[in-house]
Amino acid sequence: MKILRLVLGDQLNHHHSWFQQVDSQVTYVMMEVLQETNYVRHHIQKIVAFFASMRYFVSEMQAKGHQFIYLTLDHVENHQSIPENLLNIIEKYSVEKFEYLLPDEYRLDVQLADFCKKLSIPSQAYDTEHFLTTRYEMRNFFKGKKTYLLESFYRSMRKKYHILMENGEPQGGRWNFDAENRKKFDGKVNVPTPLTFKNEVKEIVKMIKKFNINTIGRIEIDNFEWCINREQALQLLDFFVKRCLKHFGTYQDAMETNFPYLFHSRLSFVMNVKLLSPLEVVQAAIDYWEKNQHEIAIAQIEGFVRQIIGWREYMRGAYWANMPQYATLNFFEHQNPLPEFYWTGQTKMNCLKHAINQSLDKAYAHHIQRLMVTGSFANLAGVHPDYVDEWYLGIYIDAIEWVEITNTRGMSQFADGGLVATKPYVGSANYMHKMTNYCTKCHYNKDLKYGDSACPFNSLYWHFYHRHREKLEKNPRIGMMYVTLNKMPQEELTKILQQADRYLEKINEL
Ligand code: FAD
Repeated sequence: MKILRLVLGDQLNHHHSWFQQVDSQVTYVMMEVLQETNYVRHHIQKIVAFFASMRYFVSEMQAKGHQFIYLTLDHVENHQSIPENLLNIIEKYSVEKFEYLLPDEYRLDVQLADFCKKLSIPSQAYDTEHFLTTRYEMRNFFKGKKTYLLESFYRSMRKKYHILMENGEPQGGRWNFDAENRKKFDGKVNVPTPLTFKNEVKEIVKMIKKFNINTIGRIEIDNFEWCINREQALQLLDFFVKRCLKHFGTYQDAMETNFPYLFHSRLSFVMNVKLLSPLEVVQAAIDYWEKNQHEIAIAQIEGFVRQIIGWREYMRGAYWANMPQYATLNFFEHQNPLPEFYWTGQTKMNCLKHAINQSLDKAYAHHIQRLMVTGSFANLAGVHPDYVDEWYLGIYIDAIEWVEITNTRGMSQFADGGLVATKPYVGSANYMHKMTNYCTKCHYNKDLKYGDSACPFNSLYWHFYHRHREKLEKNPRIGMMYVTLNKMPQEELTKILQQADRYLEKINEL
């Protein structure tokens, strides 16, 4: 029986059982399509990374003997839509059965399920064999609960996979070492020079330009730094465990203008396209830690493991438990547009200028830059979550909806009313100064709440809590905020709120 198997751009799993033996009856298909480059405005580096990795993957699989049809964007038979291309190939090659790997995005899941319903040949979907949980495992885990709690899910994952466990107990005697992590960067330890690659991507960039694809951001075409194949991904993993892991947790939340990556792994893209599996990443880190416990504290490895077997799987579970409704949630009923400087980086606020320009240059910002700089400001500024999602889904190299929307709409905008996060993550200049060196050279004064040079984060912060009192006051994690707000002299509060209103009116000029 002639079988056609579809592999999507984020399904580059070398170890999938499909690829364990060559079958002359099976042809695989991969395609570059405008459907995928244009559903949102992507960072140019994101499109390049996807296409370059897909092309590399196909060449490696072909070298192992697998038959592949690969449609480049400019292929004459490319209809630029996944279903149309599939239909064409099925007819042209008289395919008798269609198979695909379950997409991680709801959008594609629906599209392929609909496509299969209309097909006159049999079809079958397979697991991607990448994640540690199934699509609906977390939904069942939290069945009947109004909100989720990462900690209980994370502990169950540690037990299930026997990760950092000893005789049924967490190694080091505790599940969570957060209290020892999250320090401001003090410059006392050396930050390693990041491992980057020099991939040549001229042809892909030329093709993107030829098709007039509307992209965000900047790219160095002779020197494309991101991993585009499994070998590079393994090198990056090795670099992370040997050079960065020992300070990962400590400086996880720190932000520093001179070091965009600090001790972060930059492994999200290669994991999200499945060049690396979460289990092999975690195992490599644990193996190295076990042999080097004299120089790497348990807090570092626990912090890293938590991100991958905890947060990453948790966000995926939240996505499948709540889509498609999740994409419409707007708890605060925010309606404002996204400030223009998110697209240009042109703002006088040093923190935003830095985080946005770094994102435009590198298609990367680390978690706290996304959460407490760009995310926090958008929430304080009352931006509609649709606009916030659109920006995050486009700008980051690792942005795929299942992990983008849950982090953006859920964790950073609290638009789900607290399903994935227990409180809104917003901060004033106080937080920014505590965790970064952004405030020292800023046009605005971090210590002022009103006046022309007052840091906009300060007045907008109190404006946010004031305008959402009804929705937030009873939240036990932020009750203290309202104690402070209630104690504030009325005259002071009025000045702060008026300042915030002025800033909101001329947000594009900040
Ligand atoms: P590290 O700091 O080295 O962490 C190691 C790994 O842990 C990451 O590679 C990632 O796979 C995982 N991880 C860490 N935090 C999270 C998290 N909150 N959710 C899921 N996985 C996590 N991550 C994406 O992969 N794609 C996105 O589109 C994305 N959008 C985000 C949007 C916002 C507003 C926020 C606050 C976070 C977002 N994240 C996203 C999560 C996180 O910021 C990135 O995974 C991380 O910054 C990637 O860099 P890294 O590989 O250096 O991570």
